Amino acid sequence: MSWCSCYFDTPVPDFSRVTIVLPWDLDPTLAAFPKTPAEGQLLVLETRAKVHALPWHRQKLTLVVSALRHFVDERRAAGFHVEHVVADDYASGIRDWASRMKPRSLHLTEPREWAIDRRLRALSNELPLVLHPDGGEGGHFLISRDDFRAWANTQRGQLRMDRFYPEVRRRLGLLVDAKGRPEGGQWSFDAENREHARGVKPPPIPWFEPDALTTRVKRWAQLVAPWGKAEPFGWPVTRAQALTWLDDFVAHRLPNFGPYEDAIRSDAPFLLHSLLSVPLNLGLLKPIELARAAEEKFRRGELSLASAEGFIRQVIGWREFMRGVYWLLMPGLRDANQLGAQRPLPRFFWEPERTDLQCLREAISAVRDTGYTHHIRRLMIICNYATLAGLTPHAVSQWFWAGFVDAYEWVELPNVVGMGLFGTDAFTSKPYVGAAAYIKRQSGLSARGRGPAAARHEGACARCRYDPDERVGPNACPYNALYWTFLDTHRERLAGNLRMRQLLGNLDRFEGDQLKAIRATAETHLATLEPSPHWAFDEDAG
Ligand SMILES: Cc1cc2nc3c(=O)[nH]c(=O)nc-3n(C[C@H](O)[C@H](O)[C@H](O)COP(=O)(O)OP(=O)(O)OC[C@H]3O[C@@H](n4cnc5c(N)ncnc54)[C@H](O)[C@@H]3O)c2cc1C
Ligand code: SF4
Repeated sequence: MSWCSCYFDTPVPDFSRVTIVLPWDLDPTLAAFPKTPAEGQLLVLETRAKVHALPWHRQKLTLVVSALRHFVDERRAAGFHVEHVVADDYASGIRDWASRMKPRSLHLTEPREWAIDRRLRALSNELPLVLHPDGGEGGHFLISRDDFRAWANTQRGQLRMDRFYPEVRRRLGLLVDAKGRPEGGQWSFDAENREHARGVKPPPIPWFEPDALTTRVKRWAQLVAPWGKAEPFGWPVTRAQALTWLDDFVAHRLPNFGPYEDAIRSDAPFLLHSLLSVPLNLGLLKPIELARAAEEKFRRGELSLASAEGFIRQVIGWREFMRGVYWLLMPGLRDANQLGAQRPLPRFFWEPERTDLQCLREAISAVRDTGYTHHIRRLMIICNYATLAGLTPHAVSQWFWAGFVDAYEWVELPNVVGMGLFGTDAFTSKPYVGAAAYIKRQSGLSARGRGPAAARHEGACARCRYDPDERVGPNACPYNALYWTFLDTHRERLAGNLRMRQLLGNLDRFEGDQLKAIRATAETHLATLEPSPHWAFDEDAG
């Protein structure tokens, strides 16, 4: 069943060339789109299946639906004929509409999600469907799926981002000299970008006041979506707003992005991050726009190479790499679980006040309140805990997909299952795990103790009920006990990795029953975890 939003008294055009628009295709410059109203029409789809597929965060549902409806309004204002259809699912919506309207050709940018891609590709057996690859300088991805696969085929063994990234830099001519050599003599300045951000005052984020359309969608999302605070909602929902954010980030936060990329601060949830994954993943910005903006600022002498390179590496390196890996490893990636982790998702992922681990409570509260937390909290607070506690990668991945405003399967799945929980070693060489010392250091607290007193509001460890310097007993930080227990449990498997070998060697330094006591502390903590309430998840829906 589907309904059509066009009125019966408006002349129905001759549907010669129709572009199907999915929620993340909000860019009329994509190859699938007509360039003038005379050239073709648009078929914009929303589906009930997608709305109910996962327990979406209310701001996520508001964002995606509001951005799509703004796009409909903008295209109509530009003179295009837009059919806006709400269907049960994408395939039946397209099939029903096409059987009534008999378009001569249908154009679609390759869908970004594996299940939707499979179903819509299959439609080409019955409909005049033309699929447009998404990959190239003007696209939402810079490297096509085929090109990534071709690159992967040249790699022996594991795939590595640091081998892929220079190729993309060279191909795009970004931060390279005339001979294709990296600016500054090295490809990555990651080692210089690890400072804590004690005392740093991040510039404010220019949030947007919701307009009437967004307010209507927000009210609806509040009823339909089960989780997350609906407001304040300030995410960009149009291309113009996305560009305002890009300019603001480049002017005010990018200059210090590099050094504080890996920092964690209790009182500064966004730090100097761009938040641009949100408009980028909807198609409101192109990755090349972000990368060129950073490069140009560097070339004007207004930005350090470390910050320019650090930001560009995220956008053209990590983002493209994760997307490539997703298409290479699906559908098996969903169930990748090489460490055999079986613990269900704890309830505090949905109700963060139920955990007394201060850093974890702050990170998950940020997600509940805004649908966002930055990379290091995702990786080294949430996923670090999930890996150490042996949570099932699939369950953690579903939580990320539902809960983050920038999450779509193509990007959250490889990040959570591969990078975050080491469910596969196909593209990460070792687990990203650390004990409380790492969290303290990145929060700007001193190596031992919880000082300095002046920074207490900045570092979670300074205000936690647990002692970050203890490994054993009821007051010991659970990250510590879980960390050593994890290394001990997976010792044999991890010993194959050179970088892990030294850490594993530390296990032998524990005397007498120390390791036993550490394991008992970890077990006591794990026994306190309540399983998550049951939510319906249907990852294939849409
Ligand atoms: C467990 C986990 C889950 C993640 N889930 C998502 C997700 O659902 N959606 C998402 O877009 N990113 C995800 N990431 C990657 C990264 O954390 C986010 O892109 C970033 O935090 C978004 O915030 P930002 O725009 O402020 O990023 P910034 O720190 O400003 O970085 C700039 C841009 O680089 C890109 N980027 C950086 N790292 C990655 C990466 N590892 N993978 C893909 N793109 C990257 C993003 O587009 C981001 O906007 C995840 C990372 C981890 C460790
Ligand atoms: S002491 Fe441990 S649990 Fe508490 S904030 Fe620090 S790292 Fe997190």
